[in-house]
Amino acid sequence: MTSSANHNPVVHIVDPDVNAASGAETAVHQIIEALNEQGCQVIASTHPQEALQTFHGHTEIGCILVNWDLGKKGISTEKYIREVRERNELIPIFIMTEKHRLEEISYELMSLTQGCIWKMEDTPQFIAGRVERALHRYLDGITPPFFKELMQYTREYKYAWHTPGHMGGLAFLKSPTGRLFYHFFGENVFRADLSVSVPELGSLMEHSGVNGEAERQAAKIFNADQTYFVTNGTSTANKIVGCACLKRGDIVLVDRNCHKSLQHAITLTGAIPIYLIPSRNAYGIIGGIHPEEFLLKAIQETVRKCPLIRNKKQKIKLTVITNSTYDGLIYDVVEIKQRLQKVCDNVMFDEAWYAYAHFHPIYHDRFAMCKTHDETKHPNIFATQSTHKLLAAFSQGSMIHVRSGQNKVDPDRFNEAFMMHTSTSPQYVIIASLDVAAKMMEGKAGRALIQESIDEALIFRKKIVQMAHQIKKKDRSWWFSVWQPPFTAKRKMNDQPSSWLLKAKDRWHGYAGLQSDFLMLDPIKVTLLTPGVNLDGSMQASGLPAPIVSKFLMNRGIVDEKTGFYSFLFLFSIGVTQGKSSFLLSSLSLFKKLFDQNVPFAELFPDLAAKYPEKYAHLRMQEFAQTMHQHLKKKDIAKTTLKVFSQIAEPKMPPYEAYEHIVDDKVQELPLQKLLGKTAAVMLVPYPPGIPIVMPGEIITKPVLDYLSAFEDFDRAFPGFETETHGIVPKQEEDGLRYYTQVIIHK
Ligand SMILES: *Cc1c(COP(=O)(O)O)cnc(C)c1O
Repeated sequence: MTSSANHNPVVHIVDPDVNAASGAETAVHQIIEALNEQGCQVIASTHPQEALQTFHGHTEIGCILVNWDLGKKGISTEKYIREVRERNELIPIFIMTEKHRLEEISYELMSLTQGCIWKMEDTPQFIAGRVERALHRYLDGITPPFFKELMQYTREYKYAWHTPGHMGGLAFLKSPTGRLFYHFFGENVFRADLSVSVPELGSLMEHSGVNGEAERQAAKIFNADQTYFVTNGTSTANKIVGCACLKRGDIVLVDRNCHKSLQHAITLTGAIPIYLIPSRNAYGIIGGIHPEEFLLKAIQETVRKCPLIRNKKQKIKLTVITNSTYDGLIYDVVEIKQRLQKVCDNVMFDEAWYAYAHFHPIYHDRFAMCKTHDETKHPNIFATQSTHKLLAAFSQGSMIHVRSGQNKVDPDRFNEAFMMHTSTSPQYVIIASLDVAAKMMEGKAGRALIQESIDEALIFRKKIVQMAHQIKKKDRSWWFSVWQPPFTAKRKMNDQPSSWLLKAKDRWHGYAGLQSDFLMLDPIKVTLLTPGVNLDGSMQASGLPAPIVSKFLMNRGIVDEKTGFYSFLFLFSIGVTQGKSSFLLSSLSLFKKLFDQNVPFAELFPDLAAKYPEKYAHLRMQEFAQTMHQHLKKKDIAKTTLKVFSQIAEPKMPPYEAYEHIVDDKVQELPLQKLLGKTAAVMLVPYPPGIPIVMPGEIITKPVLDYLSAFEDFDRAFPGFETETHGIVPKQEEDGLRYYTQVIIHK
């Protein structure tokens, strides 16, 4: 049996004769017949241009036979072969020709192929045999090690007495409910769900066998010294790196723009956090950490000011930076490494949303495992990536990549932290998906996939801008704008880094005091802005808050990544197709049309109008948008946000101590009105933008309360459009909704 167990192998034949009158006894038809007899399916194209499209759309093709003589129309065979090779370096290609024309084919071109087939001289059966061998070798070559062995083992189907207890799904079949479940997912999911006691598959904990081989291949593909597969998401990956680098009392320097798993890592280890504060603009878009903050002097100053650190000479053990930021800004990683080499031994980049960076030159030197690395000077570098977020893997499939610097990372010691957080029964289907995700990105194929995402994003960006021009010309009315440099004939929008760098003198980004080129906007992360806020944070007379548009899109099945008050974000990942992005465009246009017609609220949001008739039933859309905008304007939301995020945290106790209060039941739940000056027991993270405004153990200040009460008022005023703040429990009381949170009870 071959790797393509459930499918017939597919051969693509590109030959102008292939559609000639059926039954014609041409050589190519005899070859097709022989291939069919071998069990191969054949897809045929007559023109090379069409053939390229077919190849593009049919990833099941496992071998190509192309006629040397493709006629005068379209591109030549040579060009065709080169284009296929740009996407796929491995697929076997045979040139069909006649011996006397061999001298027309250059040696170099020949080396891109598996050779020639003499279609008049070799027998069809001989040719079919050659094709089939090449095809199976190819399928074998594209199947990564763990997945290969898992398929093999699953097929052999041993009678096993080990866990999981469902025994390849059989247990489910003994119950009607179980049977529904079994048939929904299909046989293979269950048969491939194996236990660690299967020796053929190696061990995730020991990185042995095909499991270890898969990790080593991934390390090569992602340019790491070591790669670790994590089956519980980057949430766990971050805790592993945290536990590998930190112990109680150590100082950790953390991007304030961090995922909550970092706070968990800090709590677990008992480390003392100090923070790097990213800038932000009036839209609430996070602008990255200023390079000055990475200077030894600046960090020493932060240490000096932190009341929790007694030994001010202590070295920083770990620095954590979110790259890219949630809004798609990416750092000059080499500059960060250079600055931090004097500060600390270990730097972790949380690249949960950024696992694709290695595969396209636009991201050159802007990701953790980048080319430029000096292992005699730079710190040890860790990258944690949610493979499942922007590459193709099952949920929870993540990777840790490690690159040693001046202080070598010892894999055995690191593995102690890895095992601490890894289940002794990891899900093999997730591991196989990580193995496959890595293999998919290998070589030119990976580059082509990312190129496609970038191209899609560029088309979308250009279209939004073009529509803005058209609308402006027609009636000067509103449209969405894209948060990006104002492209001109001189500064073109393309897939070069120079198009996307943030320059100090540019105004579009809205950040003051930038260092040019330190940050770059990732073109695949597209932020659209709605009217309402100026770049300086002042609010316009009228506006269209983004949650309204976002809700409309949601009702049409379009879910954005993140909605701010006047912005929303879309990701162009490798799963985005042209159909998907044009549906987004047409939905945005439809929203504008309905909004401009000022349709009743109930027409766009019938469910909300029915649920809250006294609030919404009488409103039309423009009136509703105005009410929401005026509400936000009265709260001066842009400036309230800026204020809370630029304040320096006041820690009363380290996070682990705050957590110990929870365990000891020394916390209480209080409403906002009673929180001033209290110590937070949990992290408070409003969405948007998803960045903690208070960490456990920090004192709750006036700007924090102003900000939270703006959210509370918003939720009261606009039911159905509620914001979300982790750490806050909203409670419906007689006089409306109230926010509560847990604080420390001091003795
Ligand atoms: C999503 C996310 C994580 C956690 O990743 P999971 O794979 O969901 O566990 C960590 N860091 C950042 C920045 C994230 O956005």
